[in-house]
Order: sequence, then C-alpha cells, then structure tokens
Amino acid sequence: MRKDTKIVNAGRSKKWTRGVVNPPVERASTVVFESVKEMKHATAHRGEQVLFYGRRGTSTSFAFQDAMTELEGGAGCALYPSGTAAITNAILAFVKAGDHILMVDTAYEPTRDFCDKVLTRIGVETTYYDPLIGKDIEQLIQENTAIVFLESPGSITMEVQDVPGIAKAAHQHDCIVMLDNTWSAGVNFQPFDYGVDISIQAATKYIVGHSDVMLGTATATEKYWETLRENSYLMGQCTSPDDLYLAMRGIRTLGVRLKQHQENALKIARWLEQREEVDKILHPAFSSCPGHEYFERDFSGSNGLFSFVLNRGDQASVNALLDGMHHFKMGYSWGGFESLILANTNVGRLRTATGWPYQHPLIRLHIGLEDADDLIEDLTQGFERLNHSLAQR
Ligand SMILES: *Cc1c(COP(=O)(O)O)cnc(C)c1O
Repeated sequence: MRKDTKIVNAGRSKKWTRGVVNPPVERASTVVFESVKEMKHATAHRGEQVLFYGRRGTSTSFAFQDAMTELEGGAGCALYPSGTAAITNAILAFVKAGDHILMVDTAYEPTRDFCDKVLTRIGVETTYYDPLIGKDIEQLIQENTAIVFLESPGSITMEVQDVPGIAKAAHQHDCIVMLDNTWSAGVNFQPFDYGVDISIQAATKYIVGHSDVMLGTATATEKYWETLRENSYLMGQCTSPDDLYLAMRGIRTLGVRLKQHQENALKIARWLEQREEVDKILHPAFSSCPGHEYFERDFSGSNGLFSFVLNRGDQASVNALLDGMHHFKMGYSWGGFESLILANTNVGRLRTATGWPYQHPLIRLHIGLEDADDLIEDLTQGFERLNHSLAQR
C-alpha cells in the first residue's frame, strides 16, 4: 500500500470496527468474564490485545496501536497520556542505576529536563552530543551506554541528524537507538528503515492535528516491543478511548494536512528568505539548514514547522513584532490546523554540547492551514512593528 492509502486504512481491521467505518469508542475499567476458563484465558493473553482490564486497553486502543504500527512500522506501539510521558517512560524501560545515555543537544526541552532532574536522581548519567556528530558518536559511547537518543530535526533549531550513521555506530556497541519522530509524524520519515529501535511521537501534534488532545506513542521493533509494553503497563500508563478516537480521526486527514502545511510553509519560508530582516532560514528543505543533506536523503516531505534567525532586534522589538499579530497566535506546541509563532532570544541557554552562533532572536513558526497570503500580510506588519520599534531608539 502507498502512503495515503495506508493513512486511510491504518487500524481499521474488521476485528476492531465490526463493520462500521471508524473503530468505536469502547470505555472500560472492569472487564467481566462469564467463566473461570474465560478469565484465565484473558489473564494468560493480557499483553496481546485481548480485553482484560481497562488499563490494558480496549478495542479503541488496540485499533490505534495497530494504526501507529502500520504507519511507522515495528512490532507494536505503547500509548501514553502525553508525548513527554512516552519519552520518559521509553527511556526508563531500558536503563538501570549506573547506566549512561547519549542525548542529542537539540532535544525537546522537557526531555533534557528529565535527564537533568530525574535520571541524575536514579544514578543514570547523560552526555549531550552535537546533533551533527554522525558516526563519530562512537567516540562518546561508553561501556555503560544503554541508549542513544535522537530527535531529528532538532527542537527550535531544526538540525537534521544522520540517523542511519548514528544508529550503525550505536548498534556496534549494543546501544538502543531511540528517536523522537514527532516532526515527521511517522509519515515523512520511516524510522525502522534507518536503524531506529524505538520511535516516539508526541501524537499531540500532527497525529491529533486539532490542538485538542494530549497523547504519546512509542513504537518498537520486535526485539524491544515486549519490554517496552510491559514497562508501560508497570508504570500504569493508560490513555482515554475518547482521546484515542480523536487521534484516530486525525490520522485520516494526516496525508492531506501535511501536504498543505508543507506547501504553505515553503511559500512563507521562500518569502522570508527575501526579507532584509532575515539572516537565516532554518527549514530542513532549505540548504541553509544544518543537516539539509540528510533531509534530502531520508525524508519524503516536510510540514508547517520551521524557524528563522533575524539579523536585527532584541527582546523589546521582537515583543513589538509579536504583539499585534492577527493570524499567528503565541502558544507552545504545534501541529494543529492553526498558525503559531514563538520567539527565542536566548537559544544558547538550551544548549550545552554545542554553541549558538547567532546574537539576534530566533523565531519559530508553525504554519497552519490558513491562506498563506494572509499569513504573509500578518508577518509583513510584524516586521514593520519590529523596524518601527528599533527606529524609535
Ligand atoms: C510537543 C513535543 C513533545 C512533547 O509532547 P507533549 O504531548 O506535549 O508532552 C515531545 N517532542 C517533541 C519534538 C515535541 O514537539
């Protein structure tokens, strides 16, 4: 099946839909059994998508797990109440006191906080590495390195990683390769074709796609699936069938949404490239983006999220740009149908293994499904406010 056909069909086996188009919402805590034999059977097979107890899931979660596994590949998908929970629990499932992990320096900020504030507490050490390190990651691998964690493109600064190069070196030392695959939505990058063992997504973003549900997924190869699944269960992770229903509904339009986000974002990024206020476009599809060659080699498309660096401005003038936007709203997160804007005047604060060479602010945009020309007008007026604020001093 080709990509768009998969998106329409993923997780819709008759086993879960029983003949209607969408797998229904099945709510449950207690599952009741009619006989000792039935109960024993369910208990023996409780890890295998049979009704056992609400926390192990119902047909709604089984259908969504299947859908994610069909989209990303791998042997199975564990579900979490947020992307952050998926990241922290996937890591915790595979470390013990005395271990070491390698974490990309451009990781999502809460991922870094988890390493610094929780892993340290349980005796797991983290070394941050340059996202562009490639196969030289080998030099950072220690005897006790359990996990090499990637996020590509990197949060805020968008560096694209050499996933297969890093994975190959990691596997030579028996390290587990985990990837935060949220940006690709599991559609534009196929993690298991490039040596990833566990692919994690904040389904909160493009999978849900409508800014109304928090959800995380971790999809694993056969080798790691059972350990991941059982640890997720041991940690009490479970998700609401209503949220999963919305996520599943989100999947159906994922293909067309991503294409439109991509088209709008490329149009706006090309326009920004011509603006005199802009120093650098950090969009994986642009040659100015570090790791662009890996994007060209490994990805089948982009989306609405990218950043750019200004060649002027400070906190006050950027505030002037931000205050007064019509269509772009300020907000954390991304991946919904609406456009978002964030400014970061101190990117260096988020990095420890690599430097940040730019002195002027960075702006991150999530380009939504509005008409791109309306968004360009909005940005034009924002630049006017920026310049006006600078001219007044
Ligand atoms: C948003 C995000 C997360 C966290 O997801 P939540 O559902 O908000 O916890 C993790 N990784 C990346 C790359 C994200 O953008």
